[in-house]
Amino acid sequence: MVKAIRMTETGGPEVLQLVDIEQPRPGPGEVLIEHKAIGVNFIDTYMRSGLYPVTLPFVPGNEGAGVVLEVGPGVEDFKPGHRVAYCGGNGGGYSEQRVMPADRVLKLPDDISFERGAAMTLKGLTAWFLLRRTYPVKPGDIVLYHAAAGGVGLIFGQWAKHLGATVIGTAGSPEKIELAKAHGFDHVINYREENFVEHVREITGGKMCQVVYDSVGKDTFPASLDCLRPLGMFVSFGQSSGMVPPFSISLLQQKGSLFATRPVLFHYIAERKELDTAAEELFDVVRKGAVRIVINQRYKLEEAAKAHDDLESRRTSGTTILIP
Ligand code: NDP
Repeated sequence: MVKAIRMTETGGPEVLQLVDIEQPRPGPGEVLIEHKAIGVNFIDTYMRSGLYPVTLPFVPGNEGAGVVLEVGPGVEDFKPGHRVAYCGGNGGGYSEQRVMPADRVLKLPDDISFERGAAMTLKGLTAWFLLRRTYPVKPGDIVLYHAAAGGVGLIFGQWAKHLGATVIGTAGSPEKIELAKAHGFDHVINYREENFVEHVREITGGKMCQVVYDSVGKDTFPASLDCLRPLGMFVSFGQSSGMVPPFSISLLQQKGSLFATRPVLFHYIAERKELDTAAEELFDVVRKGAVRIVINQRYKLEEAAKAHDDLESRRTSGTTILIP
């Protein structure tokens, strides 16, 4: 038996309950991981609330780092004792141990701690696909990223700066603005108090941005489109404030022949080769210090409900982990 956070119904953070569950052994192609640290992500709250459908009872959690305890038949790349990190798994992470398909697991370099591995894998690979695949950022590009002081945000800001972009962010408090400025963002706008479109116009001298990365959703739409220059790219990759409402495709024409996409990390790393490329690039920028991983919230596993409440109430910055 192992301790895990399980929910038997969807709802608020209170549905997250600490229980003892039986730990399955790894099947063919699988590894059993003992977690040393577990990542908390906004997607976990969508699965808990029912916004993204799950099968009950459900153990949330899509990111973690730890040690391989046991490998199933046919697994050759991993041995007991290997340090590993992963993202995905369709839940199952908020637990002392978990089984994962070996082809989704990464070897964690010795100089990256378990805590950083658990904090950076899903969020760092997200920053990777946004910056390196969805819209490959080039030196001289002007990019806008909402919720700059968040878990993905602080990684994104540093990485975008490293790629040579001018990086504009938005954030919800003076403290978050300072934090984002210390992590790659050249300009940060308080979007709870100010009109971010007007600020982007001022900052860019009216040129506006090549790309807007928007995970806030309802509250920043359609204003995000007004931050783009003609032929710009609108990347809607989350909905922390609620879903983007349905809109007419002719809006993209009116705003200047814009492109719009709604990407998901797991489609970008579905091929093992692409997952390896992504992880290599992520580990590289972290190991050479171009991207620092900021862990501002640590909770015990049994405090998962509080972690969700803090994340959804905009009280967090940087990344959040649970310690089993
Ligand atoms: P964050 O740490 O960024 O937390 C969300 C932030 O969004 C808050 O801190 C807050 O920052 C801002 N926010 C704005 N409006 C609201 C609101 N009404 N309620 C709550 N928060 C709000 O989370 P993550 O780093 O885990 O994830 C960032 C986003 O990226 C999420 O939307 C997530 O779903 C998305 N994502 C998408 C992926 C994909 O594959 N498409 C993969 C990974 C993440 P502030 O106070 O500054 O406004």
